Amino acid sequence: MSEKPEKLIDKKGLRLDGRKIDELRPVKIEVGVLSNADGSAYIEHGKNKILAAVFGPREMHPKHLSLPDRMVLRCRYHMAPFSVQERKSPAPSRREVELSKVIREALEPAVFVEYYPRSGIDIFVEVLQADGGTRCASITAAALAIADAGIPMRDLVVACAAGKIDDKVVLDLMDTEDKVGVADVPVAFMPNLNAVTLLQMDGILTPDEFESAVNLAIEGCKKIYALQKEALKTKYMNTKEEVEE
Ligand code: UDP
Repeated sequence: MSEKPEKLIDKKGLRLDGRKIDELRPVKIEVGVLSNADGSAYIEHGKNKILAAVFGPREMHPKHLSLPDRMVLRCRYHMAPFSVQERKSPAPSRREVELSKVIREALEPAVFVEYYPRSGIDIFVEVLQADGGTRCASITAAALAIADAGIPMRDLVVACAAGKIDDKVVLDLMDTEDKVGVADVPVAFMPNLNAVTLLQMDGILTPDEFESAVNLAIEGCKKIYALQKEALKTKYMNTKEEVEE
């Protein structure tokens, strides 16, 4: 394990990876990457590498879990054993059970669940490489996978964290900043409805710092949203070209 740094922001105001305090890590997104899934997306958010796959809407198994008036969303967030420095057991940890729940709850408000009674969709999130902020990057990718499956949505969902390191509120914490820093505030956001669907806080912030962190995270979400739209458009332009050939 590498040693923990004492200072996370240098004299020039730059972070360990050279970013400014309000700068996102590089984000790359691709939609429609898995041929066996109904919808899929892959995201690289800094060093995080995450795949999301969606199956459905389809009949629920076991049947008794289905609901008469709406579709059920199921979500499994899973980290590959090799995704982190210290091998993670492939069995679901308490953390993964929690993240599966919060990711599902962050996505659900965007889906017209009432259009598909007695059915369900399964969302699988596989973290191939983790470097802090995987719940946010998972939400960003999973929302695209749902859209790629052709499931009607009110809006996309995009997520990004802000937090506090040293004495500054900063955007998009990576693993070391998350572990050594003071606080982390992941936010999921529906950009057109201007609504927050996930808000968590790990650490301690003053009310003013909390407000700046939430606002900063929402600004980050808006930037990632532009990339989400680009990725969806690229997928549909490629499909259009294939059909026209
Ligand atoms: N992590 C790890 N081993 C684990 C779980 C997490 O090394 O078993 C690292 C991983 O890089 C992850 C980070 O800790 O991204 C922060 O985890 P947290 O629970 O805060 O969730 P996240 O920030 O990824 O949403």
